[in-house]
This record gives sequence, structure tokens and C-alpha cells, in this order.
Amino acid sequence: MDSLASAPILVSCRAHKFGGSSMADAGCIRRVADLLLADACPRQIVITSAMQGTTDALVALGRAATAGTDWATGLHAVRRRHLETAQALLQQPEPAQARIDALCDELSDLLRAAALLRQPGPTALARIHGMGELLSTSLLNAHLRERGADYALLDAREVLRVRHTELGAVVDHAASAALLSDWRTRNPQPRVNVTGFIASDEGGLPTTLGRNGSDYSAAIFAGLFEADELNIWSDVDGVLSADPRLVPEAVTLPTMSYSEACELAYFGAKVIHPQALAPAIARGLPIRMRNTFAPDQPGTRIDACGEPSGSGPVKGLTLNHDLALVCLEGAGLIGVPGTAERTFGALRAVGASVVMISQGSSEHSICCVVHAEQAQAARAALAAAFDRELAGGQVHGVTACTGISVLAAVGDGMAGTPGVAARLFDALARAQVNVRAIAQGASERNISVAMSAEDATRALRAVHAAFWLSPQTIALAVIGPGKVGAALLDQLEAAMPRLRRDANIDLRLRALATRSRLWTIEHGDGSGWRARMQSEPEPADLDAIAPHLHATHLPHKVILDCSASDAVASRYPHWLAAGIHVITPNKQAGAGSLEHYRGIRAACSHSGARFRYEATVCAGLPVISTLRDLLDTGDALIAIDGIFSGTLAWLFNKFDGSQPFSELVRQAHALGYTEPDPRDDLSGTDVARKLVILAREAGMALSLDDVEVQSLVPEELRSADREAFMAGLEALDAPMREALKQARAQDSVLRYIARLDQSGHASVALQAVPTDHAFAHLRLTDNCVSFTTRRYRDNPLVVQGPGAGPDVTAAGVFSDLLRLAAALGARL
Ligand code: ADP
Ligand code: ASP
Ligand code: MG
Repeated sequence: MDSLASAPILVSCRAHKFGGSSMADAGCIRRVADLLLADACPRQIVITSAMQGTTDALVALGRAATAGTDWATGLHAVRRRHLETAQALLQQPEPAQARIDALCDELSDLLRAAALLRQPGPTALARIHGMGELLSTSLLNAHLRERGADYALLDAREVLRVRHTELGAVVDHAASAALLSDWRTRNPQPRVNVTGFIASDEGGLPTTLGRNGSDYSAAIFAGLFEADELNIWSDVDGVLSADPRLVPEAVTLPTMSYSEACELAYFGAKVIHPQALAPAIARGLPIRMRNTFAPDQPGTRIDACGEPSGSGPVKGLTLNHDLALVCLEGAGLIGVPGTAERTFGALRAVGASVVMISQGSSEHSICCVVHAEQAQAARAALAAAFDRELAGGQVHGVTACTGISVLAAVGDGMAGTPGVAARLFDALARAQVNVRAIAQGASERNISVAMSAEDATRALRAVHAAFWLSPQTIALAVIGPGKVGAALLDQLEAAMPRLRRDANIDLRLRALATRSRLWTIEHGDGSGWRARMQSEPEPADLDAIAPHLHATHLPHKVILDCSASDAVASRYPHWLAAGIHVITPNKQAGAGSLEHYRGIRAACSHSGARFRYEATVCAGLPVISTLRDLLDTGDALIAIDGIFSGTLAWLFNKFDGSQPFSELVRQAHALGYTEPDPRDDLSGTDVARKLVILAREAGMALSLDDVEVQSLVPEELRSADREAFMAGLEALDAPMREALKQARAQDSVLRYIARLDQSGHASVALQAVPTDHAFAHLRLTDNCVSFTTRRYRDNPLVVQGPGAGPDVTAAGVFSDLLRLAAALGARL
């Protein structure tokens, strides 16, 4: 039941609170007035914060004055900003400007006094800090009046009485209600502008409700004025599943319960002040969190029920920073009653507030998380409280470790739902986050995890992804959008919706790159990549790709290198070490120097990232994966034989003596079967590279130099330029004719064959094979790889099919990507 739409009819008094972001400049204030005037509700209570950034500036001014440094410049800026806003906002700005000047003069006096005293009291500071709300509210009030609306102006210090306690400011309801009723006799207007944030203490002296306290003001005044609903307006569409500045994927929550909102707020979600909820809960007041800049959005409704059904078990995630982990450890704690009491008593005595507690059931240690600035005091207090046990060895030590952040996952639906913690910790493990301490309240509404601060954002994103995104959300960068790259991008684009729907794989194309250019994409689903590449690229090089991928909120990152570039391949160890998976049809790494290859392997085992290159051997044919399966299941390799070149396969399939070999090479060239320079195929190097890759996959330390290669290019044509080579192709004819003749004499055919045996001997050469051999029956450009192993000794395992062409090569890359996704948990 969503009463958002029907609410206006039932509401007779509505409270609105506008945060600093809604009051940022004249345009914003005008927008606020538009919203208020469009609300037909007869009675309105409008609570406003200071203009965005003003309270920060005032706090800094107070500090500067106290420290004896320059405050006049800052004060001037505050004054000018408000005067200029009045000028821009109001038709007759003078009265408001006079008021601004008066307030700023008062501020100037306060700062001067602070500078003289060097130790301003809390009242003076509260007056300084609270000036922003007085300024902003008078601007809004003056503007509303100019637009013909009579809003009374309430300086909250006149009526709101609070008492400061350890739990924050507590309202004296009786006193405040009496003061308000008195004020009301003088200001009976149905609509009222109230300053947020500020109040008076028990003695009637100015105070504040603490930073971000105007949400609290709003809830208090909504109560005092008996409003039926409180709207808190900010610059986001409501309460989001996580801080959108840290998790761009965060989603707006349509509803949440008071208890969920409390947990989120207490654990650091800046969107609502934790104390704001208590007055709302007390009166059952529904709160709507809304966006001033998108008022049509429904926002988030916070009420007693929160409608958990339909939403996931976790409603929101928060991060708390600047914390420390204090641990008391020792075998002597086991089974000793009263240890916890002594621990917390000691912490309480030094005023250290405990954010989180964790004690293993072995009772060997107690850890608590406190604010970093209290870490040393907490440690010293515990060391003092347990000095006897420390001296006697029952307690080994008390440690304090700063630089800690706590991630909290919150949701009513977590209670009684198995697997929530497993999912959370699984996500943390995958993101390589080391968990320092864990706590789950008995309410099961909150799981808190302490971790090193440097892991915190990554952890938040990973956990967010685990609950709100498909766990197989993968950020992709494609390098080298040539023929294979383009085919791959088209295949990805076509497959993405199906993969998302059926296999829970969510691929996000985040970057397209060449060696010197980079097109970055924020929320890429792969569509329109061609248009994207028409746009102006960023002047960036290969080194910019990893930081761009890393900046992402998506849990997994993959670079798909579709170039044939050595420069790109040389980056693999670096990328892999950084946890970015690399998938490629580029042979440069797999067959390059052994040192580089070992660097890649070392990087993989260090970070857990995968290097996959199925498409380097026979394009899309499952050659490497077949070899891996054989070896991983315990088979032993005896030999690999194969035809690894589609071009050479085609040439020797066709070569029956009816036309000269050179003629066939020309045809293959014209058909696009050969590389632009056919020598790249005829030299055998490409085949040798593939053999090296397979040998290494089989655990042999083989390099290109170790392969015996029979080049089909006649000696005299090897260093000629391409035209001269093509013109001199006839030099191939006589040796080929002769080879064919000899093969025929043995009832054989010619095939260009790669061979590796178990001793590591590797060769690629033209050979005569009997006409009943598997290699004798290949069609067109088919490749064929034959694995002779202990299990497949008599009858080798053969993988055969087209082994070249952009589409099948791209498919090989794609299938590597899917294997990776499967390893990450995709339902494939
Ligand atoms: P205002 O000036 O309106 O009081 P704040 O800056 O105090 O606004 O708080 C709103 C900001 O809180 C948002 O702009 C958003 O960046 C941040 N924020 C942090 N966590 C959340 C969350 N879970 N949901 C929504 N916003 C959040
Ligand atoms: N202006 C105050 C602050 O910045 C109160 C608020 O905005 O909620 O802390
Ligand atoms: Mg705020």
C-alpha cells in the first residue's frame, strides 16, 4: 500500500525540510518556493538549513578566530554570498540585505570576541555556527513574501529548548510547547518558516543540534506543530541503497521502516540525521525523502511498516570511517565472568563510545571499534583495567589499530533469512577484502564488518553489487576494435540481454581503446559502440585503461585485448597483478619471451586474476580448454599433432598438381585467406607460435627458438619487399611440385603439420600423411588438433573445424569471457 499519491488529500499540516543543497543559490531558493507554493496543504511548516557549505565555512571561521588566524576574508565571503543571493532573488532586496548585514555584523563581533578570548564558550560558538540558518531562512521568507505568501518567520532559538546529553540533544517538550504556543499568539499564520539546526539550551542560551541537525529540527517541529507528514528535500531521489557518491549503481528505495532508517542513519548514511527518527517514531509520523531537483520522483517513504516484502533482505549499506579496532586478548579471559563488564566499564570511564563489539565464543579475545581519536585513550584504559592480568600473563596484550572503517548492511528482511551473511562475506572475499571483525545484532537487522579503511570503498561496491547487481557484473575494456574486436563487440551487444536474463551475467562495456586513444563509457551496455567510436576520444594511452576500469563500482574487470600488439601484451602482468582479468586472441604474450610469460603467471597467482587466450590457437575451437581438461583430470600428454593454419590447410587441400602452387597462393591472397603478406603464413612462424602456447600450457618451458620450423618461403624471397615477393611466387612451384610427387608415390598427401612430443621436441614442417589419416580429410580452411595421451593413446582425441576468421576468433574470446563468468558464479 503506497499512500504517497493519496497523501495530499489526507494531510492538513505538512512539514517540509530543505537541506543546504536545496538552498544553494538564488535559483535553488526560487525552486523551493515553487514547491511550497504548489503544495495546496493549508498549514505548512518549512524548516531550512543554511545555504550549502555555509555551516562548514562558519565552523572554519570559528576555528580561525580561535586560532588567531585570518577570519575577515572568510566572513566577507559569507556576507557577499548572501547579499548577492538577495540581489538575484528579490525584487526589492534592500530590507533583506539590511538584515543580512546586521547578522553578519553580529557574526563579526562574535568572531572578534573569539579571537580575543582564544577560547570561545559553547554559546558563542553555537551563535557563530547557527548564523547560516538565520541568513538562509530570511532569504526564503523574503522571497515568499514577495510572491504574495504570508509565512511567519520563526527563529528556533525562541521556542526550542533542548538539553545536551551523552545521546545528543534531548528536547524539553513541555517548555518548547509552551514557548511555541506563546509565539503562536503573536504569529498565527498557517504557514511558518523555521530555522533548522539551532535551538536554546535549558538556560535559554543559543545552542545547535549538532552537524546535519536540521533533519532533527524538522522532526521536532513537525511534532510541535502536529504535522501529518514530513518531507525532507535534498539533492537525491530519496534514501539510496548506498551513498551514491561511492556507489554510482545505488538505487532509490521506495520504502523503508523506521528501524531500517535508524540503523542506516546511525551507521553513517548521511541522508538523514539519526536523531530525526525518534520524534517521528513517537508520533507515527511518515517521512518522505524527496529530491528538490526532481520533485516528480516518488522518493522514499519511511514509516512503521516499511513494506519489506518484495525488496531484498538488505535495504541499505553504509560506511563509517575514522575508526579504530581495540582488542584485548589472552587465554586467561576464557570463562572468566565479568571481563566484558570491565572492558566496557573502562571504555565508558574514558568516554570512548563503542561503535561495534565482537567477541568470539572462545572468549579468547574481545574487540571493539571506537572512534580513531579515542583509540589511544581506549587502549590505555584497557591496559590499566587489566594491568594485573597483563602482568600475570592471563592477558597477552591490548592493541589499538587505527585506519579502520566499518561497513554495515541493514535490512528488516535479514532477520530469519539464511544466507545473507554468506553472500556478504563471499562478496568481500572475492573483492579481496580482509575482514578484521564482525558483529551481527540479535535483531539480525544489521551486520557490521570492520576492515582496513583502504579496502572500504571497494568492499562497499562489491557488497552492493552482491545484493543489488548480478554477482557476475563485469566491467569490460576492449582494446583494438579491428576486425576481431568489432566482431566481438557485435557479438557482445547481441548477447547481453539474453545473458542478463538467463545467466545473470551483466556485462558493462566501460572502455574502448586503441594504443593511443580511449573512449570511456559510464553506464555502457555495449549498444551503440560504433557511434561511440565516432565521438572524440580522450587523449589517453594504454596506461589509462586500468585506472579507468578500477574507478568502476563493478566487482569484476576484464580487458579484452583484440590487438596483435606487443605493446599491449607487455602490460598484461601489470593488469593481472592489479586484479584485472585479461582475455585475448593476441599471441604475443602466450608465445613471447618465457620471462614475460612467467611474469604473467606469477601475476595471476598473486592476484587471482585470470589470463585466458583460447582464441590464440585455432580461433574459436576449444583447443586450449581441451588440453587443460585432459591435464587437469590427470591424463598425461604423449604428443600433439595438428594443422594450425587455416591458410596452409586451404593451400594443401587444394594443391593437387592441377595448378601451380603459386597460383593457389595468389587465389588465397585474393580471397583474404592469407595475411596481407602471405609470408606470415608460409614462413610457419604463426604455426610455431601456437605450438609454443600449447607446449607452455602443457607445462613445458618452450620458446619460439626451440621450435624447428620449416619455412615454405624460398630463401631468396625472405627479405624481398611484398610486391617483389608476390611477383616471385613462382619460385615456390618447383619445390612444391617435387614434394607432391614424392608424397603421391607413398600414397600420401601434403600437409603442413605442427608436432610436439612429450619430451618437449617441437617442430612445424611440411609432411606427407597417408590418405587415410585424419589430417588428409580436412575441408577448406579447417584446423585440426590431435591429442595423443595416456587415455587417448590408440585413438587420439581430435578437435577439428574452422580455425580462422574474425567471427570465430571473436567467439573464442567471448567463450573465454563466459568461462570466466561461470567461474565467478554465473548460471551457464
Ligand atoms: P542536504 O544538504 O540536503 O542536507 P546532505 O548533503 O546533508 O544534503 O545529504 C544528502 C547527501 O547524502 C546526498 O547528496 C548523498 O550524496 C548523500 N548520501 C549518503 N548516503 C546516502 C544514502 N544512503 N542515500 C541517499 N543519499 C546518501
Ligand atoms: N547547516 C547545518 C550543517 O551543515 C545543519 C544541516 O544542514 O542539517 O550541519
Ligand atoms: Mg543533511
